[in-house]
Amino acid sequence: NKSLRKAIIAGNWKMNKTRPEAKELLEAIKPLVANAEGKIEVIACVPFTNLETAINTTAGSNVKVGAENVHFEKSGAFTGEISADMLTELGVEYVVIGHSERRQYFGETDETVNKRTLAALEAGLKPIVCVGELKWERQCNITEEVIARQIKLDLWDVTAEQVKNVVIAYEPVWAIGTGLTATPDQAQEVCAFIRAQLAKKYDQATADAVTIQYGGSMNAGNAAELLAQPDIDGGLIGGASLKAADFNTIVQAAV
Ligand code: PGA
Repeated sequence: NKSLRKAIIAGNWKMNKTRPEAKELLEAIKPLVANAEGKIEVIACVPFTNLETAINTTAGSNVKVGAENVHFEKSGAFTGEISADMLTELGVEYVVIGHSERRQYFGETDETVNKRTLAALEAGLKPIVCVGELKWERQCNITEEVIARQIKLDLWDVTAEQVKNVVIAYEPVWAIGTGLTATPDQAQEVCAFIRAQLAKKYDQATADAVTIQYGGSMNAGNAAELLAQPDIDGGLIGGASLKAADFNTIVQAAV
């Protein structure tokens, strides 16, 4: 029952946009998505250097701001890293954790994803935890094993109370930035499987309250069909979040 949870459309800007460009895009998005207020959550996850600009530009609007990563240590000798407290102090509400690009190119593992998730929750940030299988893993028919393992490890030690503030993004790695979207049936199947894993770990009521997004080449053309699935409660949008009109079409499909 989808009314038990919040629909969330989140843009993942990745390594795109300077500050003036970020301001321009957010100014364009704000009026388009204003009607979603109170119905669904709209988030822009932006590069660290754009966070302050994004928070100032979206002030007073229904667009919330997220970061794209966070470190798990509180402070110290971790050159180039950003802590959860640094983000909350700015007014950041959400943070993407364990995106497949971070796992692929920056050596993140389920263990560090778990540590980041716990650190974010402790600081009051809402993590968007990304899971998803590689193309090879789907071909070998181990998608469910891979997802079950990620859910188990990434949410290790996350309590039932805390998981209410966690968003899970199911992003099949083969669908990210490739134009190859999972079919609505494929995406639904795995999102339902994720919810079943959550029910097993916690209980059904807790699982029913967790927002599960689909991500991977979601766009203005295919969003409605994906979002109509019973266990897909939103989207994590890469490429299509960089164009205000496309992002808004996806938001309107969820309203
Ligand atoms: P994409 O990216 O929409 O460009 O495929 C999604 C993501 O990486 O979150």
